[in-house]
Amino acid sequence: MGVTTGILDEVKREGRNFLLETEAKTICMEYGIPVTEFKIAKNEEEAVVFAEKIGYPIVLKIVSPDIIHKSDFGGVLINLEDSKDVRNAYKTILKNIKTRKADAKIVGVIVQKMAPSSTEVVVGAIKDPQFGPALMFGLGGIFVEILKDVTFRIAPITEDEAREMVTEIKAYPLLRGYRNMPRADIDSIVNILLNTSKLIMRHQEIKELDLNPIMVYKKGAKVVDARIILK
Ligand code: ADP
Ligand code: MG
Repeated sequence: MGVTTGILDEVKREGRNFLLETEAKTICMEYGIPVTEFKIAKNEEEAVVFAEKIGYPIVLKIVSPDIIHKSDFGGVLINLEDSKDVRNAYKTILKNIKTRKADAKIVGVIVQKMAPSSTEVVVGAIKDPQFGPALMFGLGGIFVEILKDVTFRIAPITEDEAREMVTEIKAYPLLRGYRNMPRADIDSIVNILLNTSKLIMRHQEIKELDLNPIMVYKKGAKVVDARIILK
């Protein structure tokens, strides 16, 4: 997989230990993992041109090798409805970074499609010290963070194992549709798990991967944020 190898080599050459969101999402695309459409803008004009092309609502986020948690520094603005919003958001993000993390190198601003809210799930990968690459699955937000309702499998996983991961979490009934939660496309989650398994098996230098959140719809899913950390 040429694109992924190229990106990982470049990151290593630059001595970085985590990938930019643009790099992580480009890798996802090569592995057939659906991500929100994006482009990287180098100035305000470009941000508007890309936003018009992608279509509103839009999200802008800082792209910096010095910032791993973008919203901690005011680097994420969502729900931008028109070109005026995009211009304001572009300026606000750069101002936030300048005041909260003045030494951060800025690569640009990612302009991306805002994914409609839906059921949020998380797919992760870690390196188990004993068994090597392993996959994690859970529902987003409080389910992972507070209830620890997550499941793990040693990679590589089969399709049956991916399906088991989805159905064995306690919150699984919610994915089948409950009250105001729509039914979630289980097959698209299974595909993301299988493709993530392929990715981490082929690229053993990946120490940690976090697709969080992934919006899951009645049909299809979209990765909204992707983090990849190297050894
Ligand atoms: P951070 O680096 O702070 O984790 P994220 O990219 O996760 O930054 O953005 C923070 C939050 O903003 C996300 O958890 C999500 O709720 C929302 N968000 C970010 N990008 C999008 C998007 N494209 N569509 C919808 N919501 C988004
Ligand atoms: Mg995030």
